[in-house]
Formats: sequence, structure tokens, C-alpha cells
Amino acid sequence: MSRPASLPLACRVCGADHDGSTAPIACVACGAVLPVHPQVSPFALLGLARPRFHVDDSALDRAWLERSRRVHPDRFARKSDAERRCAAEQVAALNDAKRALSVPYDRALWLVQRAGVPLATLGPAWLTELMELRERAEGDDADKQRVIDEARARFAERLATLDAVLGPLDDIDDAYATPSAALRRAAALLAELKTLARLVDDLGGGKLIATLDER
Ligand SMILES: [Zn+2]
Repeated sequence: MSRPASLPLACRVCGADHDGSTAPIACVACGAVLPVHPQVSPFALLGLARPRFHVDDSALDRAWLERSRRVHPDRFARKSDAERRCAAEQVAALNDAKRALSVPYDRALWLVQRAGVPLATLGPAWLTELMELRERAEGDDADKQRVIDEARARFAERLATLDAVLGPLDDIDDAYATPSAALRRAAALLAELKTLARLVDDLGGGKLIATLDER
């Protein structure tokens, strides 16, 4: 299994070198808490050696909790400014990692972007389909509910397709390192998922993507 490229990371207290790609917490030489390399993957921060689409949510939660305890600001209250800043960096990076990985849509988005695949624009056929859905929703409440149900069903169907496209890549070395037909297909599905989620949200049908408002 190939490892991610190493990322040079120096301890801010004693200067000892570390590999930032493995998201180390403490300096092997002096024990001080380390800064976070800006390019470290959220997967490494949450204990996974390499990026993947299928994750065990409870394992991610446990890794987040265990690591958050080790870098909790209270533990560094009497330490130097440098160490307190490093601990704060670790906390922020952990929270960002958890946010990036806990929603399947966001996880897929991260994998697609990491591979350098541009986000897809919506095709004309899909835009027409979407416009037709919006028009039908302008009728009475029953019409609106039918459109919400239909958009939810299409969202579920595309999410299942995304799962079928990305799932097999998890077992292939470096599948998320460079663009591929599968990742471009995933980018197109993500664009459709986002517009369906927006439509349902606009019609008062709830949030199909928990982090939709941040997107
Ligand atoms: Zn050190």
C-alpha cells in the first residue's frame, strides 16, 4: 500500500523534524505539541492512513474525541505561547477534518477536489429537468409535495450511484491522487446532488445535505 507523500514539519519548540502527513501530535524529541501541516489530509487527522469514501462513522468519532482530549486548550494553559498556538491549530484542524468527513457529500467532494478534478457544471438536459420540476412545484401544496418527494427520490438514487462509483476506488492504491473517469462521473453526480438538495430545501422539504448552507 502506498503512503501519502511526506510533509516536512518542524517542532516549534526544539526544531526536530517530523513527517506532517501522518498528523503527529507530540514532538518525539521534546514532547511539545506539534503544529499541523496545512496539507495534511483530514483522514490522517482522524486516524486513517489514506483517503477513502466508505468510512466507519463511529471510528471517526472516537478518533476525533481521543485526539481532541490530547490537544484540549486546558492542558496547555501554562505552556509557552508557541505550544498554546500549536494546540489551538490542532483543535481547529480536527474540527475541520470532522466536518469534511462526516457528511458523504462533503467526503466525496473532498476526494474529487484532492484528485484535481474540476467541479462539474450542469448539462443542458439536467437544467431543463430542474426547471420543469420547479415549475411543477408552483401549483398547489399537493403539487409541491409531489415535487419534493420526487426530488428526494432522485437525490437518493444519485447518492446510491455515487456510492457505486466511489466505493470500488477505496481498494485501489492512489485512486484519489489523480483525475479519472470515475472521479469525473462523481463530480457530475455531486453537482446534481447539490442542486436537488437546494431545490428540496427551497421548497421547505428539509436538508438533504446537512452542510448545504456552507456550500
Ligand atoms: Zn520538539
